[in-house]
Amino acid sequence: MVRVRGYAASAARIFWTRHHGPPGGKSLIEKLLRVFVFGLLAMAPFSLRAAESAPPIEVGISIRDITPEGPIWLAGYAARKHPSEKIDSPLMVQAIAFKGGDERVVLVSLDNCEVSHAFIAPAVAELTTQHHLKPGALMVVSSHTHSAPVLENTLTSMYNLSPADEEQIHKYSAFLKSKLAEVVGAALADLKPARLEHGVGRATFAMNRRVYNGDKVDFGENPDGPVDWDVPVLKVTGANGAIRAILFGYACHGTSIAGDDFYIISGDYMAHTRQHLEAHYPGATAVYLTGMGADSNPSPRGTLLDAKRHGLELAGAVAGVLSRPMRPVQGLLKLAYAEAELPFADPPPRDQIEKDSRSDDVYIRNRATGYLKRLDAGEPLPASLKLPLAAIRIGDELTFVAMGGEDVVDYSKRFKRIFAADHPWLIGYAYEVPCYIPSVRILKEGGYEAQSSLIYYGIYGPFRAGIEGILVKQVTELMDRVRNQ
Ligand SMILES: [Zn+2]
Repeated sequence: MVRVRGYAASAARIFWTRHHGPPGGKSLIEKLLRVFVFGLLAMAPFSLRAAESAPPIEVGISIRDITPEGPIWLAGYAARKHPSEKIDSPLMVQAIAFKGGDERVVLVSLDNCEVSHAFIAPAVAELTTQHHLKPGALMVVSSHTHSAPVLENTLTSMYNLSPADEEQIHKYSAFLKSKLAEVVGAALADLKPARLEHGVGRATFAMNRRVYNGDKVDFGENPDGPVDWDVPVLKVTGANGAIRAILFGYACHGTSIAGDDFYIISGDYMAHTRQHLEAHYPGATAVYLTGMGADSNPSPRGTLLDAKRHGLELAGAVAGVLSRPMRPVQGLLKLAYAEAELPFADPPPRDQIEKDSRSDDVYIRNRATGYLKRLDAGEPLPASLKLPLAAIRIGDELTFVAMGGEDVVDYSKRFKRIFAADHPWLIGYAYEVPCYIPSVRILKEGGYEAQSSLIYYGIYGPFRAGIEGILVKQVTELMDRVRNQ
């Protein structure tokens, strides 16, 4: 920041010298110009001064291995028939803690498909109290790999589990929660001054997966559909000048590994990117933060080799950013958190739900049974859904904008456009994943992200078209709060 002001002052001096000879002249024009130029300098953004006076950012990093010991049912694909058979890459839970003044934030990168509110909220509440964190200061970001264990209370209607499978999932869930507690505590205990730098690269394997067939939307590859190919990177350097951590993001499903390699435990391309980066930058911890690209799949996809290939491309994009000058990130750390209330359309009448409860499709049956149970117990059917949202700002050079759920790419593009001056870094799958979060466009078009995916989440829905407006308004309010606090 000092450099910016120094640059402005020397630019003013060059301007002055070129146009008026050495400074010190006394003509009226010169005096007016001088007032003008120094007036401009005096008006240099207040934030520059804030950055100069802000305490240095401190960063703490911790990682734990969460690879399951034996075979276990893997999450994300309904078509799997049995538990896992082998391991490709170890699964990790990583925490990166930031402290700036009184504000502390912990971002957790979790190698799993996703976590539900029922699964994660009690653990987050306990850790938030234990470490005296503000609401929303502990954010678990699921990597959305589709090759990690099923977790309790999360998408469980998607799988045909035996009691023995359920017992394993119960044990693994408890193990994962204990590792989450360890990693958060260890990252907060590791806080020390760090230098941060931000840059954005590009990787092009994310492919829009919504294909239009008449008025139907099917899964496929749509090279004309919207995608977000940005690769945001944050370099964390320690006092000794060595790189301590490399945070990177990408807006794409963790589904390189599919049918042909269904039973392999893997962190998918995200884990392969980490491995390449950590091999190339010894001592650094590479941390993936999932973006908002729920309607993108990697292309091509299907095998472990595809995960390795995309991992290499993404690592190359990150290394490209690290090898060029990056923008320093310094200044105050600020957090604003909220929960949006997103309304559903009215549920179907009871006779339709009863008819669904006799469907040939087990997933339609499961959803209907859940709703009938509520009706029989005299409980209201879900009329809306709560979705966690956050803005985390560091100085004026970086703002993490995070939303729960599987957020489609329209949100990434819209937030990047309207918050361009805030240098936004979009994080999806943040806090918890209650279902897909479609845009107005996708709600109008229909298809998996708008409608049929809700079956697996046990929700009738669909969302009302107003949800995009609600989210944009609330995220805008959060951005105002972290700008003006
Ligand atoms: Zn998904």
